[in-house]
Amino acid sequence: MSNSKHASTVGPDRPISLTAPTGIDRAAHHRLDEAWLAAAWSHPTTRVFVVSGGQVLIDDRPDGTTELVMTPAFEAPVTETHRYFLGTDAEGVSYFALQKDTLPGRMDQSARPAGLREAGLLLSDRDAGLMVHAVALENWQRLHRFCSRCGERTVIAAAGHIRRCQACGAEHYPRTDPAVIMLVTDDQDRALLGRQVHWPEGRFSTLAGFVEPGESIEQSVAREVFEEAGVTVGEVDYIASQPWPFPSSLMLGFFARATSSEINVDGEEIHEARWFSREDLTAGFESGEVLPPYGISIASRLIELWYGKPLPKPGDVV
Ligand SMILES: [Zn+2]
Repeated sequence: MSNSKHASTVGPDRPISLTAPTGIDRAAHHRLDEAWLAAAWSHPTTRVFVVSGGQVLIDDRPDGTTELVMTPAFEAPVTETHRYFLGTDAEGVSYFALQKDTLPGRMDQSARPAGLREAGLLLSDRDAGLMVHAVALENWQRLHRFCSRCGERTVIAAAGHIRRCQACGAEHYPRTDPAVIMLVTDDQDRALLGRQVHWPEGRFSTLAGFVEPGESIEQSVAREVFEEAGVTVGEVDYIASQPWPFPSSLMLGFFARATSSEINVDGEEIHEARWFSREDLTAGFESGEVLPPYGISIASRLIELWYGKPLPKPGDVV
């Protein structure tokens, strides 16, 4: 598997959302070092933000950028919270997230709560990376309060990266569930796009699904495409991955080559699927018959790589 064929078209000016380097060293070797963590926490340069229910506070700056709202540790609301150590940057600044039941109130009027689907489009790569790490940990913590071996309660350890069972001693680690998302093309270089049953008329995107137990990702791509659209695929090329903590997935993005063309949708997940040439898609956007996919999902970027130019955003005049 190689992404070299397509890497040149994902330049630094258009990185795939949530996949760009963040500049943060996760520094996992510090997670069990309580003395180091205590010193890092009390250091004046340390920055802290609160995560609650998948949301953080963001701040839209006058210059048009949006920042994750962070404070020094001594200003952070530390009561009844879980503390996650997220890493350090090149200047030695340490970053922590505090998980709380609610987001703190802010004197700063411009700060507002946002989830990852919104903030991921607005934040810098560093801030988006910190947020997605914290949200993924929060989701995992929330769903793993009890030991899957003996059923007793687990407690947080390793600065948020382990849950330990106090009854049987089992250590539980954050899990990541692989999912595949693929742009399928045929021998005329048309793209197979589908509309999920709950999507509005005209909204099309790539096919996707979860990897099943005992299955390779190549097998998963082929199975999902056949189940959802009745199309068989052969060659599969890996393009890029994306953390997708809704609640705990990792999206693995592929280009896949179809070996059949007749479409037969399952009607359960996919209501409608079509082969689109680039001209079909442009005409669809222009007439309004096709709605451009938009959001943090890697789906938009996979389609753009094939389309050869940015997709219009909702409301854009094509
Ligand atoms: Zn246990």
